[in-house]
Amino acid sequence: MLCQKSEHVPLSVLLKRELVNEKADRPEIVSGEANQSKKGEDYSLINTDCHRVVADSVTTYSVFGIFDGHNGSAAAIYTKENLLNNVLCAIPADLNRDEWVAALPRALVAGFVKTDKDFQEKAQRSGTTVTLVIIEGSIVTVASVGDSRCILESADGAIYYLSADHRLDSNEEERERVTASGGEVGRLNTGGGTEIGPLRCWPGGLCLSRSIGDRDVGEFIVPVPYVKQVKLSSAGGRLVIASDGVWDALSAEEALECSRGLAPEAAAAHIVKEAVQLKGLRDDTTCIVIDILPPEKTNQPLQPPKKTGKRVFKAMFRKRSTEEPPKLHDEEEGYFDPDLVEELVEEGSAMLSERLDTKYPLCNVFRLFICAVCQVEMKPGEGISIHHGSSNTRGNSRPWDGPFLCVSCHQKKDAMEGKMPSSSNICFFSYILSSLLFIDHKIGRSDG
Ligand SMILES: [Zn+2]
Repeated sequence: MLCQKSEHVPLSVLLKRELVNEKADRPEIVSGEANQSKKGEDYSLINTDCHRVVADSVTTYSVFGIFDGHNGSAAAIYTKENLLNNVLCAIPADLNRDEWVAALPRALVAGFVKTDKDFQEKAQRSGTTVTLVIIEGSIVTVASVGDSRCILESADGAIYYLSADHRLDSNEEERERVTASGGEVGRLNTGGGTEIGPLRCWPGGLCLSRSIGDRDVGEFIVPVPYVKQVKLSSAGGRLVIASDGVWDALSAEEALECSRGLAPEAAAAHIVKEAVQLKGLRDDTTCIVIDILPPEKTNQPLQPPKKTGKRVFKAMFRKRSTEEPPKLHDEEEGYFDPDLVEELVEEGSAMLSERLDTKYPLCNVFRLFICAVCQVEMKPGEGISIHHGSSNTRGNSRPWDGPFLCVSCHQKKDAMEGKMPSSSNICFFSYILSSLLFIDHKIGRSDG
């Protein structure tokens, strides 16, 4: 399943050697899942034993996902089976653990777009939400499109939203983006001038602004994920990922409260039961609960939060800063809050030129002859700069700077930004256009 190169040392030897070292300082992951099905379009992914092999070391990480399909289950199944590998293939080889974690947000964007593009080429018409969670040590990375949310409760009882809500009804920024890219946003019209139901975008009538699949909906329904990466304190925390069947019935606080003190498996079952009791089984209802436990507490359920008063919702995080040492949380008492959740990355832009930019901590990730989305090898001069045709020339990014996309991924990027007719109409047109881009690109690069 992983795109790893062949290794000199047998994997089993590496695993044994590394896992012993790793155990001492890494949190333990315990998870449980529950589902009640109405349409059979919710799919989930749980793998707590993924291995990353690099040079002479091995680390384990965990992956969780919920895929809530619509108009059939093909997109949800395809995404469950292919997304993780597409993400991993977008991470350069030979990175150490810190570099690997830092490379994840960009690789997630590439992997989501490639999965969407590959699925659409199969000409199937379904779509899916995705909430993908990767846990490496105490670092949690969440990438999401659609409305299957992921929440985190830290050890001090604060609740954090780790996913975006890409429902048109609740996201004004996304409504503006869809409209600017050529879509129309409105409610269903019953004919007599009465409008009903949630806001939808037309053509297609989808009430989400981002998803994977949905070939028959406009290209402005993009697969570019919102990505949040946080570092938990050594005290750990609890994650709840669930499809909208749960969140339409329960708030984040209610879901955590009703399952408090239960082990993950029982907690997930209780959250689903509670949601279905409240609203009836109107939709597929899936929930994964993950406890991230300090190593010494492996055999106990997660301790209830220390604070008991009014709960705090934290929309804002304390950003990591190299200039600023961590401040004492409550300086008068000389007490440093050990439960601080540190935000490492938050990115939500739908523009690939912003998400796959060269501004990046790794020099080797900028590979000239590999498409930044689909990872296909390109001949010299064949790649098109992600900044090509962009009016946004902030900083030093120029049309001849990388990263580069293959012709087909560049067409996808333009279509997502409303610059091209939908993919079904562009066969002849794209041939002419890509030839022009190719010539233009060559001139640009020889100038640079
Ligand atoms: Zn490509």
